[in-house]
Order: sequence, then C-alpha cells, then structure tokens
Amino acid sequence: MRAPGGPRLLLRRLREVMAEPVTAQARLDRIVVLIASNMVAEVCSLYVSRADGPLELFATEGLNREAVHQTTMRPGEGLVGLIAATAEALALSDAQNHPAFSYKPETGEEIYQSFLGVPVLRGGATLGVLVVQNRARRTYSEEEIEALQTTAMLLAEMIASGELQGLAGQPSAVAVRKAVALKGAPIAEGLGLGHVVLHQPRVVVSKIVADDVGAELARLETAIEAMRASVDEMIDRSDDGAEGEHRDVLEAFRMIAHDRGWLRRLREAVTSGLTAEAAVERVQNDARAKLQRQTDPYLRDRLHDLTDIANRLLHQLAGQSLVLKPEELPDNAILVARSMSPAALLDYDRSRLRGLVLEEAGAASHIAIVARALGVPAVSDIANISDIVEQGDALIVDGVTGEVHVLPPPEVQAAYAEKARLRARKQDQYRALRDTPATTLDGAPIGLHMNAGLLIDMPHLSETGAQSIGLFRTELQFMLASRFPRLDSQETLYAAVLDAAGDKPVTFRTLDIGGDKRLPYMTSHEEENPALGWRAVRIGLDKPALLRIQMRAMLRAAAGRKLRLMLPMVATVDEFRRGRGLLEREVAFLAQLGRIPPVSIQLGAMLEVPSLLWQLDEIARAADFLSVGSNDLMQYLYAVDRDNKRVADRFDTMSPGFLRALRRIAEVGERGLTPVALCGEIGGRPLEAMTLMALGFRDLSMSATAIGPIKAMTLSLPLAPVRADVLALLEQNGEGDSLREPLREIAERHGVRL
Ligand code: PEP
Ligand code: MG
Repeated sequence: MRAPGGPRLLLRRLREVMAEPVTAQARLDRIVVLIASNMVAEVCSLYVSRADGPLELFATEGLNREAVHQTTMRPGEGLVGLIAATAEALALSDAQNHPAFSYKPETGEEIYQSFLGVPVLRGGATLGVLVVQNRARRTYSEEEIEALQTTAMLLAEMIASGELQGLAGQPSAVAVRKAVALKGAPIAEGLGLGHVVLHQPRVVVSKIVADDVGAELARLETAIEAMRASVDEMIDRSDDGAEGEHRDVLEAFRMIAHDRGWLRRLREAVTSGLTAEAAVERVQNDARAKLQRQTDPYLRDRLHDLTDIANRLLHQLAGQSLVLKPEELPDNAILVARSMSPAALLDYDRSRLRGLVLEEAGAASHIAIVARALGVPAVSDIANISDIVEQGDALIVDGVTGEVHVLPPPEVQAAYAEKARLRARKQDQYRALRDTPATTLDGAPIGLHMNAGLLIDMPHLSETGAQSIGLFRTELQFMLASRFPRLDSQETLYAAVLDAAGDKPVTFRTLDIGGDKRLPYMTSHEEENPALGWRAVRIGLDKPALLRIQMRAMLRAAAGRKLRLMLPMVATVDEFRRGRGLLEREVAFLAQLGRIPPVSIQLGAMLEVPSLLWQLDEIARAADFLSVGSNDLMQYLYAVDRDNKRVADRFDTMSPGFLRALRRIAEVGERGLTPVALCGEIGGRPLEAMTLMALGFRDLSMSATAIGPIKAMTLSLPLAPVRADVLALLEQNGEGDSLREPLREIAERHGVRL
C-alpha cells in the first residue's frame, strides 16, 4: 500500500503545523493525526525518552487519550523499548505474537495487529520512538518505513529544540541529552575538565524540509562532485608523500564516494522532500545504528569511513571548513575525535587544551606520545564518542583511570574538581622540590633524568629540574614525518634540542624503528615476529647510510659541544663495535671537511637484549656507558610482547628473576667498569625506583611527570638499610612470582614515601 500524497506532501503539511502558533502539546496532537491519516493507519503515537530513563507516551491518535503522559516503557521493554534500545525500525504484521510485545491495558492497543515503529534519532542519540498501528494484518512497505523515518527527523528537531520540556507526566526533563559515564584506555596522564570541541565539527542540520526538490537534488549532485574531487585530491597528495590520512583509508573513502547504493539512498531521501543536508543525516542515522551493533573490526572501520565521508559531504553542502580553525578554540577545550594525527594535535594552541578523547589510538601510538609530551590528559578506545557528544558539551577526562564523563551531573563535577585540586596541590609540592638535589636521606646522590623525543618536551627539563635528557628517542621525528627526514632537518632538530638543554647533557638514541614502530614511507617486509625481527640497530648496521647520516647530523649539531649517543637493541659486543666503527668514519669525514667537531663524544649501548647479560664485562669495556632499556629487557627475558594486552602484565617487573638480572647489571657500574643508568618505565614508579636504587642504580631516566614523585620518594629514602633489606630479600626469596608485597613492606618499615 502506498501512502496517499506520499512523504513529500506529509512533510509539507508537517512543516505548516510546525509554524502554527499553538502550544507544544496541541502541535504534537495535530502531528500524530496528520501522520496517521497520511499513512492510512488507525494509530499514530509518539513516545519520548525522559531524562530519568523511561519512554513516555507524549501524543497519540487512535489509542486512549487518557494514556498520554501516563503510559511509560523502560528502554528494552516492549516493542517501543526494543526500538529505542536497538535504534532500528521494526515492522510487524502480527505484533502481539512478537516475543518483546508488552501489553499496556490503559492504551487499548490490543485490537491492533500490525505495528510499525521507528526510532527518533538525532546525532548518536535516540530521543524517542514513533509508531503507527493498523487493526488489520498488513505488511508495511519499504517506502512506508522510509517515510516514517523521514517524519521522525522532524520530530527529533522538535524534541531537540526543547519545546517539549515541561510536558512530561513526571517532573522529569525530556532526555534531549543524558549524562554518560564511559570507560576507555588511559593514554596520557592527567585530569581535564572542560567543554567538547569536535576535531571535525558536525554540521547541525536545522532545515529538514526542502522548498524545491529539483533545486535540492541539484545541490546534492554538486556537493557530491566536489566531495569526490576533494577525496581524489587527498589521494594525489598522499602519492607525493605529503602529510595526511593513510593511503588505504583514502581508497576506502573513494569507494564510498562512488558507492551506488549510498548515492541512490541519498537521492531518494531528497526526492521524498528532505533538504540535501537532512538526506545525508537521514541515511547516516541507519549507518550509525549499524555501527553501534557491529563488532567486526573491519566492518566497523568501513562504517566509520562512511561516517567520515557523510561528514565531508555535509560540510560541502554547508560550505563550512572540515576542521576547526585553531583560533576558534575555546580556552577549556577537550578535543574529541575518532582518530587524529599527531600533526593535527600539534596545530592546536596547547594553552587552551584540557584533554583529548579518541575512539582509537594505542598507548604506544604517536598521538599518545605527543599528547603525553604536551601534557594533555588523554583517553582512547571510547567507541562512538564523536557521535555521542555535541560541540560544547561539558566533559571530564581522567587520563589515569580512563574514565570519561559526558554532561557530568553536579556531584560528579564536584568530585572531579576536588580531585583536580588535590592533584594541583601535589604538583605544587613537586614543583617546590625542583631545585632540591635528589639525595637520599642518608646522603647518597641520585641522578634523575628525563626521557624526551620531541622539541615540545624540552621545556620540561627546566620545569622539573631533571639533571639531563637521559634518553632522547630520535625515532619520533621520523615517525611524525611523511618522508625520511634529511640530513639538514635532522641536524636542525638535534641542534635545537641541544640549545634547549643549555648546559644539561642530552643522550641521543639512534633510530629505534622496526618492531611496532613502523615508518609508513619505508618499505618493510611483513614479519612473523616483528619484535624479534629487523629493527633498531640491526637496520642501522645493515643500511649503514641511514645510521651514518644520523650520526653525521648529531656530530654537526654538537659542533663545539659535548655529544652523547647510544645504540638501541644491541645484542652482541661485536654489533656495538661495528656501530662505533661507523661513528669513527663519520668523525674522520667531518675532520676532512674541516668542520668543528664536538668537544667530546661518548657512545653508549642500551642494554635491552638478554644475551648481553652474559657479556656484561665485555660490553661495559667497549661502551662509554650503558643504559638499561628495562621495557624491552623485560619483554625479551620473559618472552612477553609488551604491547599485547593479554600477556603484557602477566609477569611482574618486581620478580626475583628480573631483579637478579638488574642486580648483575648494576654491579658492573659499582665495580667502576662503566657508568650504568636505566631509562625504562620502571624508573619512574616510586616502589620500583626505590628497589632499583637499592640494587645499585644511581641514575634513572623517566618521563617528565615522574620526576617530582620520584624525587619526593628519594628524599625520604634511607638507602643503606633499605638496600640491605632488599638484597637480603632477593637472596632468600627466589621462588615467588613477585616480590612487590615484601618490597612494599620494606618501604613502609623504613618510612619511604611512595
Ligand atoms: C626500553 O626499552 O626500556 C626503552 C627505554 O626504550 P623504548 O621504550 O623506546 O623501547
Ligand atoms: Mg627499547
């Protein structure tokens, strides 16, 4: 059966009703009558979501009028609740036999057999459910379902406008938006309270009904053409190796932009009377519902791509720029995006950023590294966050626990404001320690150094009072670039780092790529086991040009100053010697050119491959210093992939096996063979750092945020008695999986502030 007059006529009539100067309830009552008659249905009812949870009957034609504002359904209850929960249309010719059917006697609906209900959607939220019912058994056509969905869009606008507030039967607001608490993965520490800024702002579609369908179709076609051209242009740019999206994402974009099914549905929606913008939104509502249910990661990605393309089309139609201009940023912005490139994050004014929430980004991803360097609290793995929030929503990001609160209620806001105050007080205490030397309670000097990788890390050096940059991860520059950084850009960076460090030393680590750190522009072979594959110094020795250019850049940058550099992932003493050979050639080359050399050059080895544990004396004699990469050393000693969530925390770093290995390494330093430092994550954790000091480590390099807490711990540490206890524990207690608890007891016994 076809609706008389079709959706176009209905939309036009509805628009007239919308403009009438009557009360909101009267308007709703007229609307349901109009829909029922247009759809040749005996019943049309509108249920609206209330802020306190249930869906309430707000208007009906055909059911008992007394039930309006009385009948409610919980989300998930009955057919209406099912539609709200799934955000999907439901058409039934025999509704009462559906397992979800729930009988509400006050409505008098038992005489109606056929049922068609659609969700009232706006953005990612379900604001209500619109239903038509027929007494006779009948099958609703695709066209009718579409028409009802289109009509629901107008109602969504009406609900979102706030016009229905105050109508609900209970003293509860209409749930235009609800507070939501979500949990994701913390990727950058800190606490942020602020307001949502969508990295890719959505276009708010306010005009739903078209004045002139022909003109609207033409607008749609023009926008599609322009959008396709912009995708093609992005692909061309990516061929040049310019910054931007990854090639396969772009190819997926291109496919969608030419997808016939999608384009047909857009055109049909416009033909039914919608504006081009509303048509995109209408088709997108279905994709969103699918996305929410989709668990297959590949299909999710494709649906996300579809969302991106739809967003591009909307911006094209609205004539708006796709990305927010940095100057439009409010001063307490929490950026929300599906994903974001590090370069995009760096474009924002840091002083206005309070946090970052992403749908996808690993803790080891580049964006996480940049967020940490900028000190922006960040949480990832929050599914559909960019659909859930709207521009300007109040939001809280907890980069410690991974919690994200959208539209937090006052009590949650107050609790977090208190938490933020406590944190700030602690930070103040740490800041006050900045110029206090890190000396244990019994007078042993400890070197606290900072890990860095970007120029934006450098101000932390003086802010934290760290003694030096103990690890500068040079690969970050390579990872952020779209092609191999040339000699001069490497030299510029290293010189700027040395300038920023002033008289504090910097230990540069040569390129540590491969494994999980891939360079998109470097052809790499699929490896079964990348962590055990062609990586770090192995690449450097096999492709000496790469390593030599980097060494040359460092030598030039350090002209007339001290240069410290170290090689990552060294597995044998011979590898180290070959690395030194390359450095010596570069030094000689520099001299030939008559360039000013560094005043001193020290070449160290990172100790992160267990094979060196049995060549400790030899590597100590060959290298000018050693630095333990405890992250990798743990990974290789225990055969656990550090990035694999299922196993990464299976073994404790405070286990007898690992601690005994560390003790042997520390002894090398104590015997005066060569200086030994440690630059893995454990150096930045108080209990671990106490243990390391007890084992004999005197120099620890850590993230900037850890310096304060570790210094506070150090100042409270009576090293000699703690050391005696820790060494005794390690000797006597070799069987357990973890010594964490007894170590904690030692700390407590000696009053160490953890
Ligand atoms: C380590 O492995 O401990 C280390 C400091 O290097 P990265 O974390 O960069 O591998
Ligand atoms: Mg490492």
